[in-house]
Amino acid sequence: MNLTKALTSFVAAQKLNEELLVVVGGGAAGVYGAIRAKTLAPNLNVVVIEKGRPLSKVKISGGGRCNVTNGHCTDAKSLAEHYPRGHKEFRGPFFNVHGPMDTMSWFSNHGVELKVEDDGRVFPVSNCSSSVVDCLMSEAKRTGVSLQTGKVVASASISTGGKFALKIQKLINCFEHVEANYLLIASGSSRQGFSLAAQLGHSLIDPVPSLFTFKIEDPQLAELSGVSSNLLLLL
Ligand SMILES: Cc1cc2nc3c(=O)[nH]c(=O)nc-3n(C[C@H](O)[C@H](O)[C@H](O)COP(=O)(O)OP(=O)(O)OC[C@H]3O[C@@H](n4cnc5c(N)ncnc54)[C@H](O)[C@@H]3O)c2cc1C
Repeated sequence: MNLTKALTSFVAAQKLNEELLVVVGGGAAGVYGAIRAKTLAPNLNVVVIEKGRPLSKVKISGGGRCNVTNGHCTDAKSLAEHYPRGHKEFRGPFFNVHGPMDTMSWFSNHGVELKVEDDGRVFPVSNCSSSVVDCLMSEAKRTGVSLQTGKVVASASISTGGKFALKIQKLINCFEHVEANYLLIASGSSRQGFSLAAQLGHSLIDPVPSLFTFKIEDPQLAELSGVSSNLLLLL
């Protein structure tokens, strides 16, 4: 989406007094959340602000294949129990609507053919994460989500009218001020996102890493990227 068109969404929403949802972060959570909002409320103006490239983590996920979900552990309760520390946090209503089967159906219904591998991991038949990225991007476009890249949501507060007052930075010393009716912070592990939540009065629990990459400069190991195995690693 070009900048003029994207800016129009802000301006139009504010001039016409239409409702506006701003999504901070164009990763998997932000883009899917925006599509979902637009699907449920087609008249809502939905603008995603992404400081870098949208869905860049999805592109590298699953060794470039994107492990979409788990096809063997489809029950929400047992799925939550298999996730470290997830037995409590993951037992909310989220998985009742967005469980593994729902996820598989959603992608299949939107043209991404999936396969379940022997160990339960679910990948696009194409073996390529770009199938997932392209699907999310085209669905965002189709539903009318406005995606603005190269911009940072720098701060958030509550305006006197009870809206979310956002300061959005485009370039050094170049800011836009936007008031949104709704705000979705989907900034992944970015400290900036945590800071926005704190500015709005939320208290935060320090996050702990669940999945991370090794940075090893051995070209022989590069070919193993994406290979998974059950093993015990002694460091
Ligand atoms: C190597 C690797 C492989 C993985 N493989 C898989 C897999 O196969 N299957 C799977 O399910 N998961 C996998 N994961 C995990 C998965 O990629 C992440 O859980 C998921 O991408 C997180 O999505 P997100 O939208 O929450 O956050 P992110 O993808 O981190 O997106 C957040 C976005 O917000 C933007 N942002 C942050 N702050 C601001 C701001 N103030 N203003 C504007 N933009 C902002 C960031 O630039 C970023 O693009 C993998 C992760 C890694 C690192």
